[in-house]
Amino acid sequence: MTHEERQKRGVYVEEALCNGCRMCEMMCSYKLTGGEFNPRKARIKVMKLDEMGICLPIRREGIAHCKPTDGKLPPCVEFCPTGALMYCTYEEAIRRRQEWPRQRLENPEYKVRAPWRIEGKG
Ligand code: SF4
Repeated sequence: MTHEERQKRGVYVEEALCNGCRMCEMMCSYKLTGGEFNPRKARIKVMKLDEMGICLPIRREGIAHCKPTDGKLPPCVEFCPTGALMYCTYEEAIRRRQEWPRQRLENPEYKVRAPWRIEGKG
């Protein structure tokens, strides 16, 4: 990955924070279609892996084009209740993912909502 690519902002995922609510799929499709809630048309897909007891948000084709509009974050990030989705640089996403395990030991709320979500960052 080049330095320019590491500095480019985009939608990144912290899988361990996903609760499987699928709000990201709904709000993405609503924006892309101009008013239709249709997860099949979303740029993000939440896979439920029951045997492992986890949910896995998968970035789909086109998500690289997602950017803030009218001062609002991409809708998947804006409406994700936990902070599992982030809009930031690759380097910032890596830093958050490295720091979060320690932060959640200090503050139990960070087990279900990320510090960056509580602080209102993307
Ligand atoms: S909105 Fe966030 S918590 Fe809900 S399914 Fe999507 S990524 Fe997971």
